[in-house]
Amino acid sequence: MSFSSLLGLPAELQARSFELVDHILLIEVAATASESACPGCQCQTSRIHSHYTRKAADLACGGHQVRLILHVRKFFCTNRDCPRKIFAERLTAFLEPWARVTTRLGQEIEAIGLASCGRLGARLGSRLSIETSRTSILRRVMKLASPETDQVVHLGVDDFSFRRGRTFGTVLVDLQRHQILDLLPDRQKETAAAWMKKHPEITHVSRDRGSEYASAASAGAPQAIQVADRFHVAKNLSEAVQQLLARVLLEMKAASQGAEAATEARGDSLLPIEEWRPAQEESVKQTIATRRAERQERYQQVIALCEQGLTSQEMALRLGMKARTVREWLHKGVAPDTRPRRKYRSDFDPYAPYVLKRWQEGQHSGRQLWREVRFQGYSGSERMVYRFLETLKTNEIVTSAGTHRLPHYTSTAAVWLFMRHPDHLDEIEREDLAAFRLAHASLNTTYQFVQDFLQMMRDREGERLDAWLTQVHESGLPELQSFAHGVGQDKAAVQAGLTLPISNGQVEGQVTKIKLIKRMMYGRATFPLLRQRVLHAL
Ligand SMILES: [Zn+2]
Repeated sequence: MSFSSLLGLPAELQARSFELVDHILLIEVAATASESACPGCQCQTSRIHSHYTRKAADLACGGHQVRLILHVRKFFCTNRDCPRKIFAERLTAFLEPWARVTTRLGQEIEAIGLASCGRLGARLGSRLSIETSRTSILRRVMKLASPETDQVVHLGVDDFSFRRGRTFGTVLVDLQRHQILDLLPDRQKETAAAWMKKHPEITHVSRDRGSEYASAASAGAPQAIQVADRFHVAKNLSEAVQQLLARVLLEMKAASQGAEAATEARGDSLLPIEEWRPAQEESVKQTIATRRAERQERYQQVIALCEQGLTSQEMALRLGMKARTVREWLHKGVAPDTRPRRKYRSDFDPYAPYVLKRWQEGQHSGRQLWREVRFQGYSGSERMVYRFLETLKTNEIVTSAGTHRLPHYTSTAAVWLFMRHPDHLDEIEREDLAAFRLAHASLNTTYQFVQDFLQMMRDREGERLDAWLTQVHESGLPELQSFAHGVGQDKAAVQAGLTLPISNGQVEGQVTKIKLIKRMMYGRATFPLLRQRVLHAL
């Protein structure tokens, strides 16, 4: 391998010698091509006019800065019609005319500039034996040409905060290619519309629920279908639900303060509803007794072996138990069954207060009561309802003070019980949700509306939107009505969002990327520099 190819020099350049002076590697390089093309007329010529030298910094080598001393030539142009008589030979791809840094070193500096900010870039460069400055890094980054935006069919548009939430910009995303297309310095409709006008090929614009981007799309891409982003629609819905919850919970709190005083006045030797338990069946009782006896016997064995001086490891091995369990039993010094049994809970418990109330009102049909609690979300067995009624016949059960255990939820936290898919709630959350739905008829109705809307959204059943809006308008729930009113004003776009698979979901990720880049710039980012760094991000 020749020295020249080791350095990655182009074929027409030949390394002649090298020398280390003050930690800088000086490499003498000569141009060897016998001909050169005139930049004026492209004619090849071999008539050399003169020799001269150029200097250029190149990629570091072995931890040394490298300076090339290039011996190059001037040629005569032999074309009589060409206005240029003499020209310097071109090394274009490797070294631009007049450049003092090779193209490949320039690209390295750009990469450093894109990955860090100017000041840090200069320090990093010095560690990598690349001599550069903050300003020259920034100048290089700013000079990078904006990538050509070719065909964009599905455009996602959203805002992002720039400079601590005081200034906002707009991000435009190609939803099909998952690429940021451009950043705009504000979120005004004129700016976004002007950008869209240059792209008559756009067929769909996915946007938030604000009026700015809606008007931008109408003005800039009138041919496109507007799609209200599902995430933003769901967010609006959750805001409406939160307002509703805040109002209803406040009303209920006021009402329950009266009820609490009344219950306390009654005093009680009665069975609080939280403590009702269905009687255990005979076979269950039997099983529990057997297990208990077995454990007791085993415990006696552990004690006996312990007295013989065996270690817990040896005892565990002999009894086929875990050493940790043996140690735990010995440490506690009691029969293992004393572990308190978990409070028995069933899916039915949250509905017990409701059934009790209905029972007291005179509804004694198990089947009817089962139907009613099912309507409120109970998904357990009918048998459990009957077992509860059995208990009611033999005990006097009271609902305890406060009736419903809701207070540990703020309306903000409760919203998520209403918004999440019921399958994604854990056991306790399901109970809490049931308690909310039972606590107030309007909460139950709200829950049904919310879940119906979300299902429409998940299953892309936009054609049901009209019916849903009509029902909500008739519901008498002002917060949901106001949400429905807003949806009605932007109905075509919301309906498209509920029907088409297009969404701005990925834009969120792109905005996160912008934030990361912004943060790396230590808040000193000017918009043009941020835009360059985002569009050319590595
Ligand atoms: Zn020429």
